[in-house]
Amino acid sequence: MEYQLIIHPRIRIDDVLQSTRFSSSQLEAFKTMSPFEWFKLGSEGWQDYPIILAVIADGIDSNPEWVKYIKNFPKWRVECHGWDHRDYRKTSIEEGVELLKRAKDKIEHAFDQEVKEFYPPWMRHSEVTKKQSELAGLKEVIEDNIPNRWLLDTNTPHFYFHYWSKLHIDQMENICHLLQEKP
Ligand SMILES: [Zn+2]
Repeated sequence: MEYQLIIHPRIRIDDVLQSTRFSSSQLEAFKTMSPFEWFKLGSEGWQDYPIILAVIADGIDSNPEWVKYIKNFPKWRVECHGWDHRDYRKTSIEEGVELLKRAKDKIEHAFDQEVKEFYPPWMRHSEVTKKQSELAGLKEVIEDNIPNRWLLDTNTPHFYFHYWSKLHIDQMENICHLLQEKP
């Protein structure tokens, strides 16, 4: 008998296609592998799972291979993580709306998918980011990111990753194994 899954955690990967404004830990990680190579490693085993990819729109033009790779997996859903990786609380409402609208259009055009959600970078959110999202036609989504919380939580389990650190790659692999475990 096949093991029946009773929970289907929402899995999200952030910083997809990011090409500017890197943190020091990202720059350290990129000394050994490119962002795209990290992404491929992090998404290994997840090709048939409906993961959410939170995309940074300003990296689309400079990463055509990465875009093409993502489009190979029809279960993956792309959503918006910003035009660039900034703290949108510190951007004016007017400029934020402009950037998010541009990001939504760019992502939709590149992936032939409708983009409905905005996941603010570092989950830094406020009334300003909420307003920016609304006016750009996006739903702002703030999700708790405590690792393995979904194992204890009987409500809506979810998990999010950055693909570019060894720790997160290991966590993704572990969860992937648990989900695919057979008796
Ligand atoms: Zn991010």
